[in-house]
Amino acid sequence: MAYNYSETLNAALESLHREKRYRSFATLERLADNPPHAIYTNGENSKEITVWCSNDYLGMSLHPDVKAAFERKALLSGVGAGGTRNIAGTSKAIVKLEAELADLHQKPAALVFGSGYVSNDASLSTLARMFPDCVIISDAKNHASMIEGIRRSGAEKYIFEHNNTYHLEEILKKIAPDRPKIIAFESVYSMDGDIGKIAEICDFADKYNALTYLDEVHAVGLYGPRGAGIAERDGVMHRVDIIEGTLGKAFGCYGGYIAASKEIVDVVRSFASGFIFTTALPPALCAAAAASVKHLKASGAERAAMHANANRLKYELQTAGLPVMPSPSHIVPVLIGNAEKCRMATDILLEKHDIYIQPINYPTVDRGTERLRITVTPFHSAQHISDLVKALCATWRELGLQLEPKLNLSPPILRAVQ
Ligand code: PLP
Repeated sequence: MAYNYSETLNAALESLHREKRYRSFATLERLADNPPHAIYTNGENSKEITVWCSNDYLGMSLHPDVKAAFERKALLSGVGAGGTRNIAGTSKAIVKLEAELADLHQKPAALVFGSGYVSNDASLSTLARMFPDCVIISDAKNHASMIEGIRRSGAEKYIFEHNNTYHLEEILKKIAPDRPKIIAFESVYSMDGDIGKIAEICDFADKYNALTYLDEVHAVGLYGPRGAGIAERDGVMHRVDIIEGTLGKAFGCYGGYIAASKEIVDVVRSFASGFIFTTALPPALCAAAAASVKHLKASGAERAAMHANANRLKYELQTAGLPVMPSPSHIVPVLIGNAEKCRMATDILLEKHDIYIQPINYPTVDRGTERLRITVTPFHSAQHISDLVKALCATWRELGLQLEPKLNLSPPILRAVQ
Protein backbone atom coordinates (compact mmCIF):
# COMPACT_ATOMS: atom_id res chain seq x y z
CA MET A 1 0.00 0.00 0.00
CA ALA A 2 1.24 3.51 -0.83
CA TYR A 3 2.61 5.46 2.10
CA ASN A 4 0.09 7.99 3.40
CA TYR A 5 2.08 11.19 3.97
CA SER A 6 -0.94 13.26 5.05
CA GLU A 7 -1.92 10.74 7.70
CA THR A 8 1.50 10.99 9.38
CA LEU A 9 1.53 14.78 9.24
CA ASN A 10 -2.02 15.08 10.54
CA ALA A 11 -1.29 12.65 13.38
CA ALA A 12 1.66 14.84 14.44
CA LEU A 13 -0.50 17.95 14.39
CA GLU A 14 -3.30 16.13 16.20
CA SER A 15 -0.94 15.29 19.06
CA LEU A 16 -0.27 19.00 19.53
CA HIS A 17 -4.00 19.73 19.60
CA ARG A 18 -4.54 16.93 22.11
CA GLU A 19 -1.90 18.34 24.43
CA LYS A 20 -3.41 21.84 24.00
CA ARG A 21 -0.16 23.21 22.71
CA TYR A 22 -0.94 23.67 19.03
CA ARG A 23 0.55 27.04 18.14
CA SER A 24 -1.67 29.64 16.57
CA PHE A 25 -0.42 33.07 15.61
CA ALA A 26 -2.20 36.38 16.03
CA THR A 27 -2.11 38.48 12.86
CA LEU A 28 -1.08 41.98 13.86
CA GLU A 29 -0.27 45.24 12.15
CA ARG A 30 1.83 47.36 14.47
CA LEU A 31 1.03 51.06 14.54
CA ALA A 32 4.25 53.04 14.31
CA ASP A 33 2.53 56.29 15.26
CA ASN A 34 0.61 54.79 18.18
CA PRO A 35 2.79 52.30 20.13
CA PRO A 36 2.24 49.94 21.95
CA HIS A 37 -0.96 49.46 19.92
CA ALA A 38 -1.56 47.28 16.89
CA ILE A 39 -4.45 46.22 14.70
CA TYR A 40 -5.43 42.59 15.28
CA THR A 41 -7.15 40.81 12.40
CA ASN A 42 -9.17 37.64 12.81
CA GLY A 43 -10.90 36.61 9.57
CA GLU A 44 -13.12 39.48 8.52
CA ASN A 45 -12.81 41.33 11.84
CA SER A 46 -10.17 43.82 12.93
CA LYS A 47 -9.70 45.82 16.11
CA GLU A 48 -7.08 47.87 17.93
CA ILE A 49 -5.28 46.03 20.73
CA THR A 50 -2.40 46.69 23.16
CA VAL A 51 0.70 44.54 22.69
CA TRP A 52 2.29 43.18 25.89
CA CYS A 53 4.73 40.61 24.54
CA SER A 54 6.98 42.29 22.00
CA ASN A 55 10.74 41.85 22.20
CA ASP A 56 11.20 45.23 20.54
CA TYR A 57 11.82 46.09 24.18
CA LEU A 58 12.78 49.72 23.67
CA GLY A 59 10.67 50.48 20.63
CA MET A 60 13.84 51.08 18.60
CA SER A 61 12.16 49.71 15.47
CA LEU A 62 10.13 52.94 15.56
CA HIS A 63 12.96 55.30 16.43
CA PRO A 64 13.27 58.20 13.97
CA ASP A 65 17.06 57.74 13.56
CA VAL A 66 16.63 54.03 12.86
CA LYS A 67 13.80 54.49 10.38
CA ALA A 68 15.65 57.33 8.63
CA ALA A 69 18.84 55.26 8.31
CA PHE A 70 16.82 52.40 6.85
CA GLU A 71 15.02 54.63 4.38
CA ARG A 72 18.17 56.50 3.28
CA LYS A 73 20.08 53.30 2.63
CA ALA A 74 17.18 51.59 0.85
CA LEU A 75 16.84 54.60 -1.45
CA LEU A 76 20.59 54.58 -2.09
CA SER A 77 21.29 50.86 -2.39
CA GLY A 78 17.95 49.12 -2.89
CA VAL A 79 16.29 46.52 -0.74
CA GLY A 80 18.20 43.24 -1.13
CA ALA A 81 21.87 42.54 -0.41
CA GLY A 82 22.50 40.96 -3.81
CA GLY A 83 24.32 37.86 -2.65
CA THR A 84 26.24 36.02 0.00
CA ARG A 85 29.08 37.89 1.71
CA ASN A 86 31.57 36.13 -0.57
CA ILE A 87 29.70 36.96 -3.76
CA ALA A 88 28.21 40.43 -3.66
CA GLY A 89 26.84 40.95 -0.17
CA THR A 90 29.72 42.59 1.70
CA SER A 91 28.22 46.07 1.70
CA LYS A 92 29.79 49.13 3.25
CA ALA A 93 26.83 49.10 5.65
CA ILE A 94 27.52 45.57 6.95
CA VAL A 95 31.21 46.38 7.45
CA LYS A 96 30.26 49.53 9.39
CA LEU A 97 27.76 47.60 11.46
CA GLU A 98 30.38 45.02 12.41
CA ALA A 99 32.73 47.80 13.50
CA GLU A 100 29.93 49.31 15.60
CA LEU A 101 29.27 45.92 17.27
CA ALA A 102 32.95 45.17 17.90
CA ASP A 103 33.22 48.57 19.57
CA LEU A 104 30.02 47.96 21.58
CA HIS A 105 31.48 44.82 23.12
CA GLN A 106 35.07 46.11 23.18
CA LYS A 107 36.26 43.15 21.12
CA PRO A 108 38.69 43.19 18.19
CA ALA A 109 36.09 41.91 15.70
CA ALA A 110 32.42 41.11 15.09
CA LEU A 111 30.52 39.08 12.51
CA VAL A 112 26.91 39.57 11.43
CA PHE A 113 24.57 36.66 10.58
CA GLY A 114 21.04 36.31 9.24
CA SER A 115 19.61 36.03 12.76
CA GLY A 116 20.53 35.39 16.39
CA TYR A 117 19.47 31.78 15.90
CA VAL A 118 21.88 31.37 12.99
CA SER A 119 24.73 33.07 14.87
CA ASN A 120 24.45 30.56 17.72
CA ASP A 121 23.98 27.55 15.49
CA ALA A 122 26.77 28.49 13.07
CA SER A 123 29.31 29.70 15.65
CA LEU A 124 28.95 26.89 18.18
CA SER A 125 28.87 24.13 15.57
CA THR A 126 31.95 25.56 13.86
CA LEU A 127 34.04 26.40 16.92
CA ALA A 128 33.50 23.07 18.63
CA ARG A 129 34.47 21.25 15.42
CA MET A 130 37.64 23.32 15.13
CA PHE A 131 39.23 22.00 18.31
CA PRO A 132 40.01 18.28 18.18
CA ASP A 133 38.35 16.37 21.02
CA CYS A 134 36.50 19.50 22.19
CA VAL A 135 33.97 19.25 25.02
CA ILE A 136 31.01 21.63 25.36
CA ILE A 137 29.55 22.31 28.77
CA SER A 138 26.12 23.84 28.33
CA ASP A 139 23.62 25.38 30.76
CA ALA A 140 20.43 23.28 31.01
CA LYS A 141 18.26 26.22 30.00
CA ASN A 142 20.21 27.31 26.94
CA HIS A 143 18.20 28.42 23.94
CA ALA A 144 17.26 25.97 21.16
CA SER A 145 19.71 27.67 18.76
CA MET A 146 22.66 26.94 21.04
CA ILE A 147 21.48 23.38 21.60
CA GLU A 148 21.24 22.88 17.85
CA GLY A 149 24.72 24.31 17.22
CA ILE A 150 26.18 22.07 19.93
CA ARG A 151 24.38 19.03 18.54
CA ARG A 152 25.58 19.71 15.00
CA SER A 153 29.18 20.15 16.14
CA GLY A 154 29.24 16.46 17.10
CA ALA A 155 31.38 17.40 20.12
CA GLU A 156 31.03 15.63 23.44
CA LYS A 157 28.55 17.56 25.54
CA TYR A 158 27.78 17.92 29.24
CA ILE A 159 24.83 19.80 30.62
CA PHE A 160 25.17 21.62 33.92
CA GLU A 161 22.12 22.33 36.06
CA HIS A 162 20.74 25.73 35.28
CA ASN A 163 22.95 28.45 36.75
CA ASN A 164 24.53 25.93 39.13
CA THR A 165 28.24 26.78 39.12
CA TYR A 166 28.93 24.06 41.69
CA HIS A 167 27.66 21.49 39.19
CA LEU A 168 29.61 23.22 36.41
CA GLU A 169 32.82 22.79 38.36
CA GLU A 170 32.01 19.14 39.13
CA ILE A 171 31.85 18.55 35.38
CA LEU A 172 34.99 20.59 34.60
CA LYS A 173 36.98 18.66 37.20
CA LYS A 174 36.23 15.38 35.44
CA ILE A 175 37.40 16.50 31.99
CA ALA A 176 41.06 15.88 31.15
CA PRO A 177 42.89 19.20 31.65
CA ASP A 178 44.44 19.20 28.18
CA ARG A 179 41.11 18.84 26.33
CA PRO A 180 39.67 21.97 24.69
CA LYS A 181 36.45 23.09 26.40
CA ILE A 182 33.71 25.64 25.66
CA ILE A 183 31.26 26.76 28.35
CA ALA A 184 28.04 27.95 26.68
CA PHE A 185 25.49 29.97 28.65
CA GLU A 186 23.23 33.02 28.60
CA SER A 187 23.03 36.29 30.48
CA VAL A 188 19.28 36.98 30.69
CA TYR A 189 17.32 33.73 30.34
CA SER A 190 14.37 34.75 28.25
CA MET A 191 11.54 32.72 29.77
CA ASP A 192 12.34 33.01 33.51
CA GLY A 193 14.12 36.36 33.35
CA ASP A 194 16.91 35.17 35.64
CA ILE A 195 20.54 36.07 35.05
CA GLY A 196 23.62 33.92 34.40
CA LYS A 197 26.55 34.04 36.84
CA ILE A 198 29.00 35.42 34.32
CA ALA A 199 31.86 36.37 36.67
CA GLU A 200 31.81 33.01 38.47
CA ILE A 201 31.66 31.09 35.22
CA CYS A 202 34.63 33.12 33.91
CA ASP A 203 36.54 32.23 37.10
CA PHE A 204 36.00 28.52 36.38
CA ALA A 205 36.87 29.04 32.73
CA ASP A 206 40.19 30.56 33.83
CA LYS A 207 40.83 27.79 36.33
CA TYR A 208 40.11 24.97 33.85
CA ASN A 209 41.31 26.74 30.68
CA ALA A 210 37.92 26.82 28.93
CA LEU A 211 36.54 29.28 26.38
CA THR A 212 33.36 31.12 27.37
CA TYR A 213 30.44 31.57 24.92
CA LEU A 214 27.76 33.96 26.20
CA ASP A 215 24.36 34.57 24.60
CA GLU A 216 23.31 38.16 25.45
CA VAL A 217 20.31 38.17 23.11
CA HIS A 218 17.88 39.40 25.79
CA ALA A 219 20.37 41.85 27.30
CA VAL A 220 22.01 43.78 24.47
CA GLY A 221 20.68 47.32 24.27
CA LEU A 222 19.11 46.90 27.72
CA TYR A 223 21.89 46.67 30.33
CA GLY A 224 25.24 48.33 30.83
CA PRO A 225 26.18 51.98 30.47
CA ARG A 226 26.44 51.63 26.66
CA GLY A 227 23.82 48.91 26.26
CA ALA A 228 26.32 46.10 25.66
CA GLY A 229 24.52 43.76 28.06
CA ILE A 230 24.90 42.16 31.46
CA ALA A 231 28.62 41.41 31.00
CA GLU A 232 29.19 45.13 30.52
CA ARG A 233 26.97 46.01 33.49
CA ASP A 234 28.94 43.58 35.67
CA GLY A 235 32.33 44.79 34.41
CA VAL A 236 33.28 41.36 33.01
CA MET A 237 32.84 41.84 29.27
CA HIS A 238 36.60 41.55 28.70
CA ARG A 239 36.58 38.13 30.38
CA VAL A 240 34.07 36.55 28.00
CA ASP A 241 35.61 35.06 24.86
CA ILE A 242 32.60 35.08 22.55
CA ILE A 243 29.57 37.33 23.02
CA GLU A 244 26.55 36.58 20.88
CA GLY A 245 23.68 38.98 20.35
CA THR A 246 20.69 39.79 18.19
CA LEU A 247 19.73 42.88 16.22
CA GLY A 248 16.10 41.76 16.33
CA LYS A 249 15.06 42.50 19.89
CA ALA A 250 16.16 45.64 21.80
CA PHE A 251 17.90 46.99 18.69
CA GLY A 252 14.55 46.76 16.88
CA CYS A 253 15.85 45.40 13.54
CA TYR A 254 16.79 41.91 12.37
CA GLY A 255 19.93 39.77 12.29
CA GLY A 256 22.42 38.39 14.79
CA TYR A 257 26.13 38.55 15.53
CA ILE A 258 29.13 37.41 17.51
CA ALA A 259 31.89 39.64 18.88
CA ALA A 260 35.22 38.03 19.77
CA SER A 261 38.93 37.90 18.97
CA LYS A 262 40.09 38.34 15.37
CA GLU A 263 40.95 34.67 14.96
CA ILE A 264 37.67 33.37 16.38
CA VAL A 265 35.69 35.65 14.08
CA ASP A 266 37.91 34.75 11.13
CA VAL A 267 37.48 31.02 11.72
CA VAL A 268 33.68 31.30 11.94
CA ARG A 269 33.67 33.56 8.84
CA SER A 270 35.81 31.05 6.96
CA PHE A 271 34.26 27.73 8.02
CA ALA A 272 30.63 28.20 9.14
CA SER A 273 28.25 27.12 6.42
CA GLY A 274 25.42 29.11 8.09
CA PHE A 275 27.50 32.20 7.43
CA ILE A 276 29.01 31.36 4.05
CA PHE A 277 26.13 29.93 2.04
CA THR A 278 23.39 32.47 2.67
CA THR A 279 22.49 35.91 1.38
CA ALA A 280 23.89 38.76 3.47
CA LEU A 281 21.76 41.06 5.59
CA PRO A 282 20.45 43.91 3.37
CA PRO A 283 22.41 47.19 3.57
CA ALA A 284 19.35 49.16 4.67
CA LEU A 285 18.81 46.82 7.62
CA CYS A 286 22.51 47.04 8.53
CA ALA A 287 22.36 50.83 8.43
CA ALA A 288 19.24 50.81 10.62
CA ALA A 289 20.84 48.39 13.12
CA ALA A 290 24.03 50.45 13.26
CA ALA A 291 21.95 53.59 13.95
CA SER A 292 20.13 51.78 16.74
CA VAL A 293 23.31 50.43 18.36
CA LYS A 294 24.95 53.86 18.07
CA HIS A 295 21.94 55.60 19.61
CA LEU A 296 21.74 53.20 22.56
CA LYS A 297 25.47 53.52 23.26
CA ALA A 298 24.93 57.19 23.95
CA SER A 299 21.39 57.25 25.35
CA GLY A 300 20.24 55.50 28.51
CA ALA A 301 16.81 57.16 28.43
CA GLU A 302 15.02 54.28 26.67
CA ARG A 303 16.58 51.70 28.99
CA ALA A 304 15.68 53.72 32.07
CA ALA A 305 12.06 54.18 30.99
CA MET A 306 11.63 50.49 30.16
CA HIS A 307 13.16 49.28 33.45
CA ALA A 308 11.07 51.74 35.45
CA ASN A 309 7.97 50.40 33.71
CA ALA A 310 9.01 46.79 34.35
CA ASN A 311 9.43 47.58 38.06
CA ARG A 312 6.05 49.30 38.20
CA LEU A 313 4.39 46.42 36.40
CA LYS A 314 5.87 43.75 38.71
CA TYR A 315 4.80 45.73 41.76
CA GLU A 316 1.22 46.23 40.56
CA LEU A 317 0.85 42.59 39.50
CA GLN A 318 2.13 41.32 42.86
CA THR A 319 -0.01 43.75 44.79
CA ALA A 320 -3.06 42.48 42.91
CA GLY A 321 -2.13 38.88 43.80
CA LEU A 322 -1.01 37.64 40.39
CA PRO A 323 1.70 34.94 40.54
CA VAL A 324 4.66 36.86 39.12
CA MET A 325 7.66 34.54 38.91
CA PRO A 326 10.73 36.04 40.61
CA SER A 327 12.77 37.78 37.91
CA PRO A 328 15.63 40.19 38.50
CA SER A 329 15.45 41.36 34.88
CA HIS A 330 12.99 43.25 32.69
CA ILE A 331 11.12 40.04 31.79
CA VAL A 332 7.86 39.55 33.69
CA PRO A 333 6.66 35.92 33.66
CA VAL A 334 3.27 35.19 35.24
CA LEU A 335 2.74 31.53 36.07
CA ILE A 336 -0.37 29.62 35.00
CA GLY A 337 0.96 26.07 35.13
CA ASN A 338 -1.48 24.52 32.68
CA ALA A 339 -1.25 24.55 28.87
CA GLU A 340 -4.98 24.76 28.23
CA LYS A 341 -5.61 27.55 30.74
CA CYS A 342 -2.62 29.41 29.39
CA ARG A 343 -4.07 29.32 25.87
CA MET A 344 -7.50 30.30 27.26
CA ALA A 345 -6.00 33.24 29.17
CA THR A 346 -4.52 34.56 25.93
CA ASP A 347 -7.86 34.16 24.14
CA ILE A 348 -9.83 35.89 26.91
CA LEU A 349 -7.35 38.77 27.09
CA LEU A 350 -7.51 39.26 23.33
CA GLU A 351 -11.23 38.82 22.87
CA LYS A 352 -12.58 40.58 25.97
CA HIS A 353 -9.85 43.03 26.94
CA ASP A 354 -8.10 43.91 23.65
CA ILE A 355 -4.76 42.80 25.10
CA TYR A 356 -2.27 40.55 23.32
CA ILE A 357 0.05 38.26 25.32
CA GLN A 358 1.18 35.04 23.65
CA PRO A 359 0.97 31.87 25.82
CA ILE A 360 4.29 30.13 26.56
CA ASN A 361 3.92 26.37 26.60
CA TYR A 362 6.07 23.23 26.38
CA PRO A 363 8.67 22.74 24.88
CA THR A 364 9.63 26.42 25.28
CA VAL A 365 9.17 25.91 29.05
CA ASP A 366 8.75 22.75 31.14
CA ARG A 367 5.31 21.18 31.41
CA GLY A 368 3.48 22.48 34.47
CA THR A 369 5.23 25.87 34.23
CA GLU A 370 3.17 27.28 31.36
CA ARG A 371 3.01 31.03 31.66
CA LEU A 372 2.27 34.41 30.21
CA ARG A 373 5.54 36.18 29.47
CA ILE A 374 4.91 39.89 29.69
CA THR A 375 7.24 42.51 28.30
CA VAL A 376 6.91 46.22 28.72
CA THR A 377 8.29 49.09 26.65
CA PRO A 378 8.86 52.79 27.27
CA PHE A 379 5.56 53.37 25.42
CA HIS A 380 3.40 51.64 28.01
CA SER A 381 1.83 54.25 30.29
CA ALA A 382 0.73 53.95 33.93
CA GLN A 383 -2.81 53.67 32.54
CA HIS A 384 -1.81 50.79 30.25
CA ILE A 385 -0.28 49.01 33.25
CA SER A 386 -3.31 49.45 35.44
CA ASP A 387 -5.64 48.32 32.60
CA LEU A 388 -3.49 45.21 32.14
CA VAL A 389 -3.58 44.33 35.83
CA LYS A 390 -7.39 44.69 35.91
CA ALA A 391 -7.75 42.54 32.77
CA LEU A 392 -5.46 39.85 34.17
CA CYS A 393 -7.37 39.73 37.46
CA ALA A 394 -10.67 39.35 35.58
CA THR A 395 -9.13 36.60 33.44
CA TRP A 396 -7.75 34.80 36.50
CA ARG A 397 -11.22 34.86 38.10
CA GLU A 398 -12.88 33.63 34.90
CA LEU A 399 -10.45 30.68 34.73
CA GLY A 400 -10.83 29.84 38.43
CA LEU A 401 -7.15 30.63 39.12
CA GLN A 402 -5.97 31.83 42.55
CA LEU A 403 -5.25 35.48 43.31
CA GLU A 404 -3.16 36.09 46.43
CA PRO A 405 -2.84 39.83 46.98
CA LYS A 406 0.41 40.89 48.66
CA LEU A 407 0.10 43.81 51.01
CA ASN A 408 2.93 46.00 52.25
CA LEU A 409 5.23 45.47 49.28
CA SER A 410 7.91 48.12 48.95
CA PRO A 411 6.99 50.52 46.19
CA PRO A 412 8.83 50.08 42.92
CA ILE A 413 12.12 51.71 42.14
CA LEU A 414 11.14 53.96 39.28
CA ARG A 415 14.63 54.76 38.15
CA ALA A 416 17.19 53.45 35.73
CA VAL A 417 18.46 49.93 36.37
CA GLN A 418 21.69 49.76 34.42
N1 PLP B 1 19.14 33.25 21.90
C1 PLP B 1 18.10 33.40 22.73
C2 PLP B 1 18.34 33.25 24.19
C3 PLP B 1 16.81 33.70 22.24
O1 PLP B 1 15.79 33.83 23.08
C4 PLP B 1 16.62 33.85 20.84
C5 PLP B 1 15.29 34.17 20.26
O2 PLP B 1 14.31 34.36 20.85
C6 PLP B 1 17.74 33.68 20.02
C7 PLP B 1 18.96 33.38 20.57
C8 PLP B 1 17.59 33.83 18.54
O3 PLP B 1 17.66 35.18 18.18
P1 PLP B 1 16.90 35.70 16.89
O4 PLP B 1 15.48 35.91 17.28
O5 PLP B 1 17.63 36.93 16.50
O6 PLP B 1 17.02 34.61 15.86
